[in-house]
Amino acid sequence: MINGEKRIGRPLRWAMIGGGRHSQVGYKHRTGALRDNTAFQLVAGAFDIDPERGKDFGVNLGVAEERCYPNYQSMFRNEAEREDGIEVVTIATPNGTHYEITMAALAAGLHVICEKPLTFTTAEAEEIQAFAEKQGKIVGVTYGYSGNILLLQMRAMIAQGKIGDIRMVELQYTHGFAATDENDRKSEGQKWRVDPKIAGPSFVLGDLATHTYYMSQLIMPQMKISKLLCDRQSFVGSRAPLEDNAYVMMHYENGAVGRMWTSAVNAGCMDGQRIRIVGSKASLEWWDSKPNELLYEVQGQPSQTLVRGMDYLDETVNAYERLAALHQEGLSDAWANLYLNIAIAIDAKERGDEETLNKLIYADINAGVEGVRWVETCVRSAENGSVWVNFDAGVPVTS
Ligand code: NAD
Repeated sequence: MINGEKRIGRPLRWAMIGGGRHSQVGYKHRTGALRDNTAFQLVAGAFDIDPERGKDFGVNLGVAEERCYPNYQSMFRNEAEREDGIEVVTIATPNGTHYEITMAALAAGLHVICEKPLTFTTAEAEEIQAFAEKQGKIVGVTYGYSGNILLLQMRAMIAQGKIGDIRMVELQYTHGFAATDENDRKSEGQKWRVDPKIAGPSFVLGDLATHTYYMSQLIMPQMKISKLLCDRQSFVGSRAPLEDNAYVMMHYENGAVGRMWTSAVNAGCMDGQRIRIVGSKASLEWWDSKPNELLYEVQGQPSQTLVRGMDYLDETVNAYERLAALHQEGLSDAWANLYLNIAIAIDAKERGDEETLNKLIYADINAGVEGVRWVETCVRSAENGSVWVNFDAGVPVTS
């Protein structure tokens, strides 16, 4: 059970880049990082592309005025000169800046928490991976809902053979908020999402599906994709070549098959992240709109709903329980777990504690690389006419 007591020696001195007043995701980072008050302390930031707005915002968050910087370069320079300078930085800026800022942060000797998708290409993501290793720093990636503890229950039950051999993997992350092009013109956060120069080679594959793909890996770490086929569409034509809808079919090395449906044009859908794992004996299903419940359906028996906070859940799950049964947890709690694990990882890395690092389940640099590789492979398949593409080699399957 988590009750806010400290898990590391002292809170890490933390800064944010982006995540300013009008950003979509900034507050989620702050609720996650500052939830327990014992893991992170927000001491500096370059919160906004507009320096004045960023300073005003930072001061309103309680950050000292002189530590609200006009850009990340001046923040890294000035903080390096302070004895109490920052140790870790979150990058919550549009996708096209992630590679450059992450590399600069690692060069400045900082641990990094970066938004997804980590980079545009696998080559860039692997460069970050190698540089982080060289610098001895942690890079965490914020797949928000991956901190939901019922995903750990799915992982434990699958490992215990409760559903038998995995046969089908059904993944979905869809919404309808971009069903028309209205927000492409009006909303700053949506404009860049459909601009390949800033968003990268995809819209919904990178913006939505990478979350669910990582969560499927967290649940089924043993499952490796052998090949995939992606069929993507731009139903709002001005978004082409970036897709606002995609279907991805996947084959796994163990013979299982999977599908991902991702969409921003699923009109009327308010939120729709779903994971259903079908085994030879039973199935498990989780929806983000019911984050406290896990459906367990054994063939031939009445279906069961496992509820968060109960003693019958695996001990790995209840170690992250925050509110106890009867009270509902949601996205903010998932973010808090995500950030707590990253804090523990940073602390362990600094102490050379490999045992703790190896046991921690969180979205590390490998998850960041894997997410980019998945998106890149999907795009390659779609651009080759929606053909099967070998996952590791990234080339069309010819036989
Ligand atoms: P947004 O456009 O709403 O906000 C971006 C923020 O970054 C703004 O405050 C902007 O002023 C600031 N900014 C831009 N460039 C900057 C720079 N060079 N230096 C400092 N600040 C800068 O975007 P968003 O929706 O918040 O998305 C940001 C990132 O977060 C994207 O990579 C996106 O994919 C990701 N995201 C993740 C989740 C999640 O659940 N993990 C949710 C939404 C967005």
